[in-house]
Amino acid sequence: MSDFIVSARKYRPSTFDAVVGQSSITSTLKNAIKSNQLAQSFLFCGPRGVGKTSCARILAKTINCENITENVEACNTCVSCKSFNENASFNVHELDAASNNSVDDIRKLVDQVRFAPQVGDYNIYIIDEVHMLSAQAFNAFLKTLEEPPKHAKFILATTEKHKIIPTILSRCQIFDFKRVGINDISNHLAFVAKSEGITAEQEALHLIAQKSDGAMRDSLSLFDRLASFSDKQLTYQGVIEHLNILDYDYYFKVTDALLINDIKSLLNLFNEILDNGFDGHHFINGLAEHLRDILVAKDESTLKLLEKGDALQDRYLEQSKACELSFLIPALNLCNECDVQYKTSNNKRLLVELSLMRISSIGHQMTEKKSPKSFVVTLNDEKKHVSVEKVPEIAQKTEKTTENTEVSTFKNIEEKEIVAPKSTPRISLSGKKKSKTISITAAFQDINKVNEEDQEIDTSKLRKTDFPASAMLKTWKEVIVFVKQKGKSNLGITLGVFPPKLKENYVIELPLSNSSQVEMMMEEKYMVLEFLRNKLENDYIEITTTIIEGEKSNIPYTNKDKFAKMMEENPHLETLRMKLGLDPDY
Ligand SMILES: [Zn+2]
Repeated sequence: MSDFIVSARKYRPSTFDAVVGQSSITSTLKNAIKSNQLAQSFLFCGPRGVGKTSCARILAKTINCENITENVEACNTCVSCKSFNENASFNVHELDAASNNSVDDIRKLVDQVRFAPQVGDYNIYIIDEVHMLSAQAFNAFLKTLEEPPKHAKFILATTEKHKIIPTILSRCQIFDFKRVGINDISNHLAFVAKSEGITAEQEALHLIAQKSDGAMRDSLSLFDRLASFSDKQLTYQGVIEHLNILDYDYYFKVTDALLINDIKSLLNLFNEILDNGFDGHHFINGLAEHLRDILVAKDESTLKLLEKGDALQDRYLEQSKACELSFLIPALNLCNECDVQYKTSNNKRLLVELSLMRISSIGHQMTEKKSPKSFVVTLNDEKKHVSVEKVPEIAQKTEKTTENTEVSTFKNIEEKEIVAPKSTPRISLSGKKKSKTISITAAFQDINKVNEEDQEIDTSKLRKTDFPASAMLKTWKEVIVFVKQKGKSNLGITLGVFPPKLKENYVIELPLSNSSQVEMMMEEKYMVLEFLRNKLENDYIEITTTIIEGEKSNIPYTNKDKFAKMMEENPHLETLRMKLGLDPDY
C-alpha cells in the first residue's frame, strides 16, 4: 500500500467540468473567462470541503493556459498547465490565513503583488480562511485589493462570510458554494469506486454521502476509510455497522406499525433498536426525517427533495401512498415535541414510547375513521386514563425510579370514553380539485384547526383552580429552589431577577433583561410550567416573557459596552486605547 494516495487528493478535479455539484458557479466562471470579463477579486463562500479551493486552482490554471479549449477549460498539456498540475507553478500563491494571519504575513504577500509574472498572464493570490486575518492584516490588505495591478487576481475563500467586513465584500465578486447534493456525491463515489476496482453497493455509497453532510472531501475520506476496512467490498450492511447508522428498514417497519396502530410491534421494534445500542433521541429524530421524506415523496413537485437511491426511492413512494397528509403532519409535530422534551424528561424511554402511541393513534384515526381519545395506562401499578394529548406529560412526571416501567396495559376504550369523533381532516392530493401541488401551509392550518377542536373536548378534564397573585409569587419562589436543586442554577438566577406578574387568563409574565435569558427560559419553560401547574392545580397556566427596555442598556454585552463600563472606573483607559490604536469593536 505504499502508493496509496487518499482519494480526496487523487480525485481532486482538474477542470471546471469535473467539479461536482457546483455547476452554476463553474459555468459563470467559464462565461466570464470566455467573454474576457473576469473580475479582479473573488470571494468564494461556503461550507468546508465543497470545492472552493479546487475551483480557485482551476480558475488560476485556466486563465494562464496557453491554449484554452473551445469548452473554456485548461488544455492540461501546455507548459503552464503542466507546472500547475505538478504544483510547480510560480503563478499561484496560496496563503492559509488560519495559520498566517498577521500583518507581516499579509505585507509579504502584498509586496509580491506588484511584480508581473515571468510566465503566463496572471499571478493569482488565493487566501484561504480569509476571515481569520487580524483586523490590522485586513487593513493592510485593503489598499492592494482596491487598486490591484492588472496582472494580479485575488481569490479569497471563507467558510464564514458573515465575518468578512463590508469593505472587502464590496470589492469582490461573490460566489456562494452550496453543499453538494447526496446523489451528486454518491455518483461521484461510484465513479471513484469503479476507478479503484472496488465493488460498492449503491445504498452503501448513498449512506456515506448522507453522512458527510454535503462535503465532497469528507465523503471521500470516509470512503477511503471504509474501503480499507472492507477488502474492496463496500456493502450496505458493512457501512451501517461501521458508521453506527440505524438501518432505514426499521423506519419503514415502524411507520407500517404506526399506520395500523400496532402498538405491540412498535414497542418491540423500539426495544430492538435500543438493544442495538441506539438511543431514543437518535431514533425519534430519524423517524422524523423518515416521515419528512415520505411527505416529500407524496408529490412530484417535491420529489426532487428526496435524495435517495433508485431502489430506496421506490420504497418511499410506495409507503407515501399509504400515508395521508393528515397523518404525516401531526406525526411530524409529535416527533418534534418529543425531541424538544427529550432532554428534560425523567423517563426518556417512556417518553418515546408514548409519543409512538400518540402518533399511532393518528394513524388509527385515519384508517378507522374514528378516534380513540384516551388510553388506560398502568404506571406504578396505578391505572390512569390518559387522553391522547396528555401523554408526554405523564412521561415527564414519571420519576427516574421507574426506569423499567413497562406499559403493561393499554387498550383503546372506544365505546365508553370516546367523545363523538370529529370528522378527520382529509387533505388528500387527489381530493383537491384544481391545483395539483400540495400547500403545506394550508395543510398546517387545517391541522391546527383540528387541534383546537380537540382541545375544546379535553378542557373538561383540565384543572382550573383560581389563585391570587400572592400564591403565584410564593410558588414561584419554590420553583426557583426546585430548579436549583435540579442543578440548573443559571435558570434559577434567571427566574429570580425580576418578580413575575399575574396577567389575565392565568398568564404569568416574567420580565427579563436580555434575549439570552429569554432563550434559556423558553428552553426550560416546560419544567417550570409543569411545577406551577401542579402546585397551583391549574392546567391553564402559561408563561410569557418580556424584555425590560431600561435594563437592556445597563448590562455590558458587546465589547464596546464592556469598554465603556471599564472606562467609568478608570478613565485613563481611553488614552491607552488611543496610544495602542485599538478598536474596542474587534
Ligand atoms: Zn494549458
